[in-house]
Amino acid sequence: MRILLSVLLLVPLWGQVTKYDLVIAGGKIVDGAGGSWYVGDVGIKGDSIVAMGKLDPTEGARRLDAKGLVVAPGFIDVHTHSRRGIFDDPYALNYIRQGVATIMEGPDGSSPLPVKNFLDKVAATKTAPNFGMFAGQGSIREQVLGLVNRAATAGELDKMREITRQAMRDGAFGLSTGLFYVPGNYTPTEEVVELAKVAGALGGMHTSHMREEAARIMDSVRETIRIGEEGGLPTQVTHHKVIGRANWGRSKETLQLIDEARARGVDVTVDAYPYTASSTGTGALIPQWAQEGGQKALVERLNAPQQLVRVKASIVESLKHDRGAGDPANVVMARCGFDPKLAGKSLADITRERGREVNFENAAETLIEIQRAGGCSAVYHAISEEDVERILRYPFTMVASDGEVTRFGVDSPHPRSYGTFARVLGRYVRERKTLTLEDAVRRMSSLPAARLKLLDRGILRPGMKADVVVFDPNAVADKSEFGKPHQYAVGFRDVIVNGIPVILNGELTQQRPGRVLFGPGKQ
Ligand SMILES: [Zn+2]
Repeated sequence: MRILLSVLLLVPLWGQVTKYDLVIAGGKIVDGAGGSWYVGDVGIKGDSIVAMGKLDPTEGARRLDAKGLVVAPGFIDVHTHSRRGIFDDPYALNYIRQGVATIMEGPDGSSPLPVKNFLDKVAATKTAPNFGMFAGQGSIREQVLGLVNRAATAGELDKMREITRQAMRDGAFGLSTGLFYVPGNYTPTEEVVELAKVAGALGGMHTSHMREEAARIMDSVRETIRIGEEGGLPTQVTHHKVIGRANWGRSKETLQLIDEARARGVDVTVDAYPYTASSTGTGALIPQWAQEGGQKALVERLNAPQQLVRVKASIVESLKHDRGAGDPANVVMARCGFDPKLAGKSLADITRERGREVNFENAAETLIEIQRAGGCSAVYHAISEEDVERILRYPFTMVASDGEVTRFGVDSPHPRSYGTFARVLGRYVRERKTLTLEDAVRRMSSLPAARLKLLDRGILRPGMKADVVVFDPNAVADKSEFGKPHQYAVGFRDVIVNGIPVILNGELTQQRPGRVLFGPGKQ
């Protein structure tokens, strides 16, 4: 009887095809374009938004009441390190829980190659968010030259051009560089420009983890601009920050350089995460000359007493003036493959545990031991709040996490993986009023979408793909903290990707509707 009744109730839906699969009704629509919110409905059919405004309540198969809540485009994160995590957790829950509907891989000059093989694997995995990638200049160079510190020959350059072209044809969104890292740091600017021309000719952009983000940050910004200008493509200072106490406040000058370049027609933009700490491998404290050839070569140098002295002196300098920001306690291990128990401990803690007084020299000694054992990833508290806010407020800055798809409860990652987007909406919109809600959403949606030339996403309009988030502007917050990172963001009630809810009324639906997205050069 009960079954019969359910069937009868369903008949009207079977009998007529409803105009919408889903209507999100009566929310404050913040459409991503940056204009002021308005109250309205969003009608979704299949994977697309088909109508907006005042929609007939009888015409939707399913209706979500969004009264008092914000309805916005699913967020787009242009800088993530998700190539491992996406296979461990294809829901990418730490991202989905903060409203991110699209994640981009391949930043900092490092990407899997060939791009096609990797994207095929992602497609076969079926992910909850959409997924796209950049081709990494460092990875391309490593494939052709290895980890050597010299300029490329003409023949090698040709090979790198060809790999870049293929990566773009496979669907990369552009070329990423990490000129701070081996082997990117061995690359002359002219060589990057040559590859940038190839990516640019196929519609791609350039995104730059700059050569240096501390004392030489101005030169680094100039170099990034130059790659865009001479390479003939849009360029982006990624995870823009100013590292080291002596350099705090210099975002004023870096943004001025970017403004000047924009004024003469160079298409330069910025992305940033809202934290006063960065995160990368402990190799960031080791001088780059010592890393040529990789780990084995580094250990050989550490075994040569004269070179060891030079390495140690350089680490001391970094601890004082660069990523250490004047205190070994500012360097906190995030993940250590050789000893997972070190995660969460600072370089000062570990130095003390090893029976040494905490000073710069002894901390450098500890770091050398860590590096000999294979190194860790670490969090570096070396950025000022003033710079974070100034960079966030800059009109051409988008929000991007630089995070990873996390394994919940494992290691001690930077909270940015869990909290970036929620933190901007909670701390920098609601609490500090650094940004308006509409402007913050723009920096998470239409700005990155336009950058990537994802012209069917990033704005709520009929005809666009239905990546939609519904959140409570009074409750949205990041919960993840340094030292206690494994906490999902709160406040996101519904997260819809390609028309399918991944989170509905706060609950995971077990759906993975994400798609592989392809860049403008795809063939
Ligand atoms: Zn980076």
